[in-house]
Amino acid sequence: MCGIVAASSRRNITPILLEGLRRLEYRGYDSCGIAVIESDGAFHRARTVQRVASLIRQADEEKLSGGVGIAHTRWATHGAPEVRNAHPMISHDTIALVHNGIIENYAELKAELVSEGYEFTSQTDTEVIAHLVYRYFEGNLLDAVAKAVSRLRGSFGLAVCCTKQPDVVVGARRGSPLVMGLGDKENFLASDVL
Ligand code: GLU
Repeated sequence: MCGIVAASSRRNITPILLEGLRRLEYRGYDSCGIAVIESDGAFHRARTVQRVASLIRQADEEKLSGGVGIAHTRWATHGAPEVRNAHPMISHDTIALVHNGIIENYAELKAELVSEGYEFTSQTDTEVIAHLVYRYFEGNLLDAVAKAVSRLRGSFGLAVCCTKQPDVVVGARRGSPLVMGLGDKENFLASDVL
């Protein structure tokens, strides 16, 4: 098992996402990462094969700050525990995505995307989902994620955000847990209530 924390807020959400990952450490993981949408509208990402405490230091040194973001602890199923395989996965600097679970038909989806010119930077099954969401994005992230997940076989909990709709986080789940927390002008997704 492993974990997802995501949020859409008006304050800097980075410390809350990282504290969320710390609380999910008990689930086990081999790497972790976070991406937030910075005030310039671009993703800023930090990833490590070390502990969440190291990710917290890295995020601090790199001054990660943003109101919308996604964070992840990974338990590798496809691809070694290396930084390039740690989530969030980013497609075309536009879509960032974290995933818990296994995509059974990722090889055929990857072949399809490669034949269309998509380039892969990881060995994960997860990266196909990020590219699929990018491919289907036509201005509405929810629609794009719905189309992408309709192509997937297997289990997933997902959190996705997009620089072109920078106040939105979309979640999806099938066979993996994902809870939603509704706050005051801010909302959250996580793998469990902690
Ligand atoms: N299958 C994905 C990977 O290997 C997600 C693993 C997880 O659930 O953390 O990257």
